[in-house]
Amino acid sequence: MSDAYVSAEMRRSVALRAGACCEYCLLKMGTIAFPFQIDHIISEKHGGVTSEENLALSCIYCNAYKGSDIASEDPFTDKITRLYNPRTQVWETHFRRDHVTIVPLTPEGRVTVKLLRLNEERRVLEREALIEIGEYPCRVLQPERT
Ligand SMILES: [Zn+2]
Repeated sequence: MSDAYVSAEMRRSVALRAGACCEYCLLKMGTIAFPFQIDHIISEKHGGVTSEENLALSCIYCNAYKGSDIASEDPFTDKITRLYNPRTQVWETHFRRDHVTIVPLTPEGRVTVKLLRLNEERRVLEREALIEIGEYPCRVLQPERT
């Protein structure tokens, strides 16, 4: 989340690249009332720049919980661990979807699920309703990697 100016062209380009899909929770743009936002993966506070390599499309929930954070404490190891980076990492490596739940597979996945509250009750309920009408997830997931 940031106040940095992101041009309309850059916003369009980031949204297109993401397939109108929240790059963290896989919510589809337009399926919730709130407009999606452009996330600085590495916040400006931590030296991140406003370039497409550091931007991600995010729903309002993910972006609000992420704020300017770039890491959190892994609940299993107590180690400070970086959040999942949608530009350099593959979603399916760090998470899998179990119906309405986003299950973390790695330390980065765990801190991201925790900090962004990906399985918060209201979000899970919303996801359930969207699954029923075929609107979740916003893209086809690749088979799990082992
Ligand atoms: Zn999201």
